[in-house]
Amino acid sequence: MPIEFENPKPIAQMQFMLQTVADNMMRPHSRHFDENEHEIPFSYIEFMHTAMKATGVGTMAPQETASSGTDTDPGKKRPPIAYQMLATMLEMLSWGDVGMYLITPGGGLGAAAVQAAGTPEQKARFLARFGDEKPTFGAMCMTEPQAGSDTSAIRTRAVLDEKTNEWVINGQKIFVTAGDKAFNPHDEFGRGFLVVWASIDQEAGRAGMRAFVVESGTPGVTVAKLEHKMGIRVSDTAAISLDNVRVPYENLLGSSTVEKNITGFKGAMATFDATRPLVAATGVGVARAALEEVKKMLSERGITIRYGLPRQKLTSVERDVIDMEIMLRAAWLMVLKAVWMADNKQPNALESSMSKVKSGDIVTKITQKAVEIMGPLGYNRAYLLEKWFRDAKITDIYEGTGQINRLVVARQLLGYSGKELR
Ligand SMILES: Cc1cc2nc3c(=O)[nH]c(=O)nc-3n(C[C@H](O)[C@H](O)[C@H](O)COP(=O)(O)OP(=O)(O)OC[C@H]3O[C@@H](n4cnc5c(N)ncnc54)[C@H](O)[C@@H]3O)c2cc1C
Repeated sequence: MPIEFENPKPIAQMQFMLQTVADNMMRPHSRHFDENEHEIPFSYIEFMHTAMKATGVGTMAPQETASSGTDTDPGKKRPPIAYQMLATMLEMLSWGDVGMYLITPGGGLGAAAVQAAGTPEQKARFLARFGDEKPTFGAMCMTEPQAGSDTSAIRTRAVLDEKTNEWVINGQKIFVTAGDKAFNPHDEFGRGFLVVWASIDQEAGRAGMRAFVVESGTPGVTVAKLEHKMGIRVSDTAAISLDNVRVPYENLLGSSTVEKNITGFKGAMATFDATRPLVAATGVGVARAALEEVKKMLSERGITIRYGLPRQKLTSVERDVIDMEIMLRAAWLMVLKAVWMADNKQPNALESSMSKVKSGDIVTKITQKAVEIMGPLGYNRAYLLEKWFRDAKITDIYEGTGQINRLVVARQLLGYSGKELR
């Protein structure tokens, strides 16, 4: 099959629309929301909700019906592009402001977990709300104070109360992106949910782990605090405590049967295979923002990059900028490969983690270099370079740190299990 590097038409159109959003609704407000942590950008949220409803992108999770065909070529075979579309959208929004992107209404990680672990009936039941009248949020609670990279240490428990046929959940979750907006009722927002990972069988280890949908406002759930962070400060990162929280039996995603050697955690892994390239795409967006800004600032000072010259004839700054461009493009190609595989239903655990590692690396290096090249201007709050430098690092932390994703890559390449290589 020939390789095409041109964006399919629906993606190019979406990108064009989101460029306008990024230019007008994100960039001009980036500094304000960075300096006023946790203030909610209602106009952006309202606008995105209306725009996504109008274009049929309800959940910010891949739309299974998306294809690259157009009305003018009805007979042509249409390659699926749902993930590619989403990756391109996220790259563009993160170019605008990655913190604001993280509070774009839609299901977020919560919807991704329902997509990965839920039955068709559960997907229909839980995801429909994101197309409703009010902006609505979803979030996923995996991490606990003693269980981040090592998810086998999760202590949250779900016990079935056979009299009422309800699950009773107890535990502590931390670092939940959009946890406050998804759980706490806000007049401006619809009723969201948290997807909470818990064990239904402690003896069974990871085989006993399951995901539960906990609806907004459920008694026993408390948003204990919001983190104060280095970057992505507009995004709420919540600590959530669950104290005898009761959810209906049917809110357990997938099957409740615990079978030896069949890990309930595979739903979590499937979630990450789907979302890691998307996180990688956000890193590429931030890196592109920093690189473009540096080129613009240099050009305003009479310095243009002389492409095509032998390397020894270039200045040090030119070499730096060209190296940044190479890193950026390599990272984006890895994202495209991982999402192409997801769109074509090919297992992509390796490519998904590779793209996340690469993006985490390059966005950190590119934003750091951007600050370095511009010197005092890069360090100054009059420009966004120092903010992007702070926003960048999270790409290499959440959804599996750089080290953990390197482990995943090594296991895949060498054929080791998690137990054999940790
Ligand atoms: C802003 C933010 C938002 C987040 N959003 C969410 C969310 O929505 N939902 C959610 O569930 N979680 C979320 N997280 C949690 C995030 O996924 C974890 O912080 C991350 O997985 C790391 O876990 P940890 O914090 O326990 O660090 P640790 O696991 O303690 O890691 C600390 C360091 O040790 C390294 N390390 C750990 N184990 C190994 C190993 N075996 N080999 C080599 N190095 C290792 C790590 O790479 C890291 O550098 C978020 C975190 C942040 C900061």
